[in-house]
Amino acid sequence: MTITQTFYTLLASAILAFVAWRYYRKWRYRQAMAQPFPTEWASILKQYLPIYPRLPEALQGELQQHILHFIYTKQFVGCNGLNINDTIRVTIAAEACLLLLNRPTTRYANLKWIYVYPTTFTAKREHQDEYGVVSQKRAHLLGESWQNGRIVLAWDSVEQGMANFTDGHNVVLHEFAHQLDQEDGAANGAPLLYTKDAYRIWAQIFSDEFNQLQSTLARGNSSLIDSYGATNPAEFFAVVTEVFFERPLQMQARHPELFEQLRDYYHLDPSQWLSTKAM
Ligand SMILES: [Zn+2]
Repeated sequence: MTITQTFYTLLASAILAFVAWRYYRKWRYRQAMAQPFPTEWASILKQYLPIYPRLPEALQGELQQHILHFIYTKQFVGCNGLNINDTIRVTIAAEACLLLLNRPTTRYANLKWIYVYPTTFTAKREHQDEYGVVSQKRAHLLGESWQNGRIVLAWDSVEQGMANFTDGHNVVLHEFAHQLDQEDGAANGAPLLYTKDAYRIWAQIFSDEFNQLQSTLARGNSSLIDSYGATNPAEFFAVVTEVFFERPLQMQARHPELFEQLRDYYHLDPSQWLSTKAM
């Protein structure tokens, strides 16, 4: 066999191996998706996620499919000695996938790793003061969303968010809303919308509501929307997403235009879930 023949034989073998590997991966994925939703996982949802029994059956089924995909495609990493178990995987996946229901989605295609700490974690962050001086400081964090395929969560905060699903605070909804915001490459408080017109209306209503929150807080008054939302437009979108899912009736009454924008974006109306089934 000449050197040229050997080269082409090796090349053909490499291509064949690559195609076989791709085919095997797709086959494994299809097999995993075709499995019935594990009964232990369904029990975890019923036990830990108060919103789950209230969802219409069609959305429960869709959520289960999203959870299977999420757990198959993302890697959970326990930090500071935390052992990752099914409760951690299923509950985080479920709350994350709540934001994907009933609409076209790439299912957090860029997200690869979920790092979970047992409790609040510290991280070095750069801070710039009003004179432009940049310094390093250590921050205590409940969660973080990165554009490089990572999300970081504190498990005790996740548990608190699940235990009280009506207080408008939920770190998983918050961090995954950031992921949606970051899908277009810019964390600016506007996720990928469905039409060009939608961006104009979104920008107008969100900036009005953001300015209104800042003025309310400046006057020393409280708001349904947590003060952290006044940090910047990206935080505002993450914070109002928490309120939209956990306190929909209050948001609908006090911030109807904002509620309408979020309802159109998420293709969901969580206020309807309150009366459809008993908690
Ligand atoms: Zn945030």
